[in-house]
Amino acid sequence: MRATLIAGNWKMNGSLASNAGLLDGVRAGAGAVNAQLAVCVPAPYLAQAQAALAGSAVAWGAQDVSAQEAGAFTGEVSAAMLGDFACQYVIVGHSERRSYHGESSELVAQKALRALARGLTPIVCVGETLAEREQGETDAIVIRQLAPVLDAVGTNLAGIVIAYEPVWAIGTGKTATPDMAQQVHELIRKTLAQRDADAAQKVQILYGGSMKPDNAKELLAMPDIDGGLIGGASLKPADFLAIAQAA
Ligand code: PEP
Repeated sequence: MRATLIAGNWKMNGSLASNAGLLDGVRAGAGAVNAQLAVCVPAPYLAQAQAALAGSAVAWGAQDVSAQEAGAFTGEVSAAMLGDFACQYVIVGHSERRSYHGESSELVAQKALRALARGLTPIVCVGETLAEREQGETDAIVIRQLAPVLDAVGTNLAGIVIAYEPVWAIGTGKTATPDMAQQVHELIRKTLAQRDADAAQKVQILYGGSMKPDNAKELLAMPDIDGGLIGGASLKPADFLAIAQAA
């Protein structure tokens, strides 16, 4: 039985002042939910998240990591640095990084490897655009995005989390129906099983894309949906915790 993971992606939002209430609110409500909780905060706020959440049931993490170990890579943040702030998770391959920063699936695979090598759990995002869905390419796109990651992680497959995030559902208020999402989650699980049948049963596959308190229950009830990667709704403790309560 896989635990449910509800992970927040704050994106480029927050301030020292506003984060304080958000972190305290999530921490205070964490005991009442039957799900693992995590918040992925902007890198400058990792120390704040660590101080606010240490000793609680809420894990924290980052939204990206460098594919490089260390050195002359101005602006990059390494997996070792995330480890210094006791991050448990790091998102890699979010569609905003793929589209605005030109990240390829091969680069995403290197990032996932760096994270694993430092004991972090990469949350690997995959998902199709609206045009790709309309052209019937969803399955092919998701399989193509996953392949380099699965090649790279090899026998460490059970150490990753995957998030299926249809690009057309992110931040738009449009959500995949539970059946649509389940279909892709099942495809992902089968693709993992071709590499390692045991690990495929252990990997948590999250859904992301306008998940809210009012649609979370139906999505989380699907057999291969093991949690959510939550953008907008993770900025309000009550909404984030309500999604976790729906698990
Ligand atoms: C996300 O950014 O990963 C996401 C799912 O955003 P939202 O929940 O706002 O659609």
